[in-house]
Amino acid sequence: MPAEDLDDRTFKVCSTCKKPIFFEGAYYRCSVSTCNRARVAYYFCSVPCWDAHVPEQRHRDAWAEQAQAPSRATYLAELAKEESTTGAAEAAPARRVVSPPKPEGEVPEDVLVVVSKLKAYIKARSGMSTSDGVIEVLSDHLRRISDQAIENATAANRKTVMDRDFQGILKR
Ligand SMILES: [Zn+2]
Ligand SMILES: [Zn+2]
Repeated sequence: MPAEDLDDRTFKVCSTCKKPIFFEGAYYRCSVSTCNRARVAYYFCSVPCWDAHVPEQRHRDAWAEQAQAPSRATYLAELAKEESTTGAAEAAPARRVVSPPKPEGEVPEDVLVVVSKLKAYIKARSGMSTSDGVIEVLSDHLRRISDQAIENATAANRKTVMDRDFQGILKR
C-alpha cells in the first residue's frame, strides 16, 4: 500500500484485520522469513491476527515476534533511502532480504560442544558416563537450531545472531 494512503500516524495496517499500526507502536511479525520480504511483508496488530495467517501460509515451526514500529521520521528516511537506491540500481540487484549463503561443502562438521565439560556434567549429575555418539547428536542439534536462528536474524534484517533468535526456537 502506498504511504500516501495512510494518515500521518499510521505505519502500516494489520495484514489480517486492517486496523492501523501506529508509528512507534508495538506490532507483531511472523518468524518465517518469506513473510518478511520487503514488498510482501506481513504486519499484525495482535497475536490472534498473526495466528489467522498461519493456516493460509501452511507454516511449520512459526511464531509471532513482537516488534516496534519506527518513528515516522525514521520510516520516511528509510523510504527515501530505498528510493534513491532503487533509482540507481537498475543494473545492480535491488535491496532484498535473501537467505544467508550456505556454502554447503565448506561448513565444518566439527564438534560444537566441549566434550570434557559435558561428560563431567553428566557424571556429576548422575554418575553415568557418556558415549561418544552423544557429542555428534548434540553438535547436529546445535547446527540445526543455529540455522533457524540465522533465519530469524535474517528476517529481522540483522547481521548479528542474538539470544532472542534462539529463545523462540527453544521455547517450543
Ligand atoms: Zn489485526
Ligand atoms: Zn508467516
